Amino acid sequence: MRFPIFIAGEAREDREVFREGIMAFIGKGRSADMYRIIRTGEKNRAAEGETVRQNRVGELEYLTFPALTAAGMAGHLFTTRTGGVSTGDCASLNLSFSRGDLPEAVQENYRRICAVMGVSPEDVVASAQTHTTNIRRVTAADRGKGVLYPQDYRDIDGMVTDVPGVVLACFFADCVPLYFVDPVRRAVGLAHSGWRGTAGRMGECMVRRMQKEFGSDPRDLIAAVGPSICRECYEVGGEVAEEFRSRFAQEGIITPGREKGKYQLDLWLANRVILKEAGIPEENIHVTDICTCHNPQYLFSHRASHGRRGNLAAFLYILNNFSENA
Ligand SMILES: [Zn+2]
Repeated sequence: MRFPIFIAGEAREDREVFREGIMAFIGKGRSADMYRIIRTGEKNRAAEGETVRQNRVGELEYLTFPALTAAGMAGHLFTTRTGGVSTGDCASLNLSFSRGDLPEAVQENYRRICAVMGVSPEDVVASAQTHTTNIRRVTAADRGKGVLYPQDYRDIDGMVTDVPGVVLACFFADCVPLYFVDPVRRAVGLAHSGWRGTAGRMGECMVRRMQKEFGSDPRDLIAAVGPSICRECYEVGGEVAEEFRSRFAQEGIITPGREKGKYQLDLWLANRVILKEAGIPEENIHVTDICTCHNPQYLFSHRASHGRRGNLAAFLYILNNFSENA
């Protein structure tokens, strides 16, 4: 993987400039001409209104879970393809340095999305995803790794932290993002869970790790299953189907496909089941109704693009200015 050469001070200056630019956009509110998303999931049973909210700052649109926002102590978002400078298959807000995109373009995209969050690329810690269930406890010493500086870790598909201002980042183009917020112990976790990670019960691994590291009680956790591929779009072969059938008792995770020997895999339902079985109350589990593959102009989808795509990112962090009495 190539890493851009950054000078720390330069990035900090850019942040100030960018913040000013972004502040000029904020206040315009939700625009009537936001992208028309196709929503394919079930309506969330617990949350009032929409499960996933569409937001816009200038040309940049991003998605949030109102239930995570309501926890009050964490910032988060899920990116879309809009508002960046990358071109071609990576157009326009690609956030991976490993997709053949120009490093300068990815850097600029980071500056833009970080400005939306009011953080710096220096605060971001990137995962090193290889479809494992390995989890890293991230500290302030990891800031900037995978974005400004090389990573000194590998095979990390999940991250947890209790350090305010450290911004966790994972990358997606159909695989499932898992967000965890513990408002009691003030800790957060973010994971990448594709079919392999889901078969390995990554969601449960995350809950157990937060229990171990921070003393989190699963009953306090608020979890979100982020935008990813829906059952209708996700056809799998017999081997994957069998793996899920043998690991999950729940009906409906594997259903017959359109052709003989093919099946449809419901990763949203599988992850909901995993999180519930890990002890998170059903009303605290918020599952996306937005499919990446149904919206390939708006979200990067590996399947819809036949692999010619950039990466979306999920971000999650504990707010610096969070006050218990606020
Ligand atoms: Zn779909």
